[in-house]
Amino acid sequence: MLYRLKNAGYKAYLVGGCVRDMLLGREPKDFDVCTDATPEEVARLFRNCRLIGRRFRLAHVHFGREIIEVATFRAQHTGEEEGSVIENGMILRDNVYGTVEEDALRRDFTVNALYYNINDFSVADYAGGMEDLRAGVLRLIGEPEVRFREDPVRMLRAVRFAAKLGFRIAPDAEQAIFKLGELLQDIPPARLFEEVLKLFLNSYAVQAYELLRHYDLFKYLFPATDACLAEEEEGYPHMFVVRALENTEARIAENKPVTPAFLIAALLWEPVRSAVHGLMQEEGMTEAQAIQMAGRDALDRQAGHIVLPRRFTVQSREIWQLQPRLMRAGAKRSLRLLQHPRFRAAYDFLLLRASAGEDVQEQCDWWTRVQEVEGEERQSLCQPPKGAKKKRRPRRRRSKKETAGPEAS
Ligand code: ATP
Ligand code: MG
Repeated sequence: MLYRLKNAGYKAYLVGGCVRDMLLGREPKDFDVCTDATPEEVARLFRNCRLIGRRFRLAHVHFGREIIEVATFRAQHTGEEEGSVIENGMILRDNVYGTVEEDALRRDFTVNALYYNINDFSVADYAGGMEDLRAGVLRLIGEPEVRFREDPVRMLRAVRFAAKLGFRIAPDAEQAIFKLGELLQDIPPARLFEEVLKLFLNSYAVQAYELLRHYDLFKYLFPATDACLAEEEEGYPHMFVVRALENTEARIAENKPVTPAFLIAALLWEPVRSAVHGLMQEEGMTEAQAIQMAGRDALDRQAGHIVLPRRFTVQSREIWQLQPRLMRAGAKRSLRLLQHPRFRAAYDFLLLRASAGEDVQEQCDWWTRVQEVEGEERQSLCQPPKGAKKKRRPRRRRSKKETAGPEAS
């Protein structure tokens, strides 16, 4: 890949996270290449190539299932040049091409601006990244305030890299974050979703969350949740989020899949849960109705801050809506829930609630037991004790047909 560019007479370097991670002895997540060939020239060299992005035009070269990002060297710009759009100090279009030195200076952190040269296996450092890498410091290239105003998402990136690498954020950058956090409100909600996934679907999610709270940035991502956290500092809401993120970390460590749907359900659970109480008490709704309504409402309000794709939120709502049904553990029809496509996620969610201190342990144990056994034994778990049966009956609204059992239909 690099050699094909080189043989065609272009410069080619590995750059960014992969160089940083390799120098730290960590496995790079992906490889980013940069070159003096324009995206169109890259496309001419590689047939398996697609050009993407408007704000930041890139070539994606596909190798089987892997994608290598190839970017053309870019220069700082003033908004006057062709390919550049700047508004109130924020860079909206960043397509002014330049030299490798110029390219280095417009990257975000010094440790992200190291270039690995394949010709002589050297690392080119135009911004003092090596020293900061050794010291474990995330330092912005240039004036922190200017760089955060250009692109406020860099504040989230600072937090993410600090959590991931265990680095300190340089003091002048910290000050700038405290001052400029609210600029995150101007970021298009669609871009924030990607960033949120990068923050939380990883093996350092708890640390990322703690740092977001420390720098008071969490409230720009999940304002309703943040409001609940403020009411009960260190209480259940905080505990629940931490347990959810620990759960994510553990799953990643075990190579189990993690879904955005579960994450969304967990991060918005507290606003949903507190609204449900109100709706049941004040509006006389059933718990199922209240969850339905509170869930929709929480997602609608969240959409103003972060675009959560529908294919995920549909599942998040199912996870919430299954909660009251899981609470009726032991009822005759409860075994049907095992067939529900979201059962497993909803069950994991219930475990989470228990681990954060909600009074649902009994139900968790029952569902755990049910999944361990089969056939007759499983059926036998479903005979509710006499007293419980009487108490539950009137709450369930069943049609005649259903009460008569499956034979009747
Ligand atoms: P990782 O891939 O491990 O999340 P990374 O550093 O590779 O980390 P990417 O988002 O893949 O992060 O970006 C690659 C490189 O592009 C970065 O290292 C940085 O040099 C540059 N870069 C990315 N986003 C920005 C930004 N918002 N502002 C300035 N430079 C950026
Ligand atoms: Mg990368």
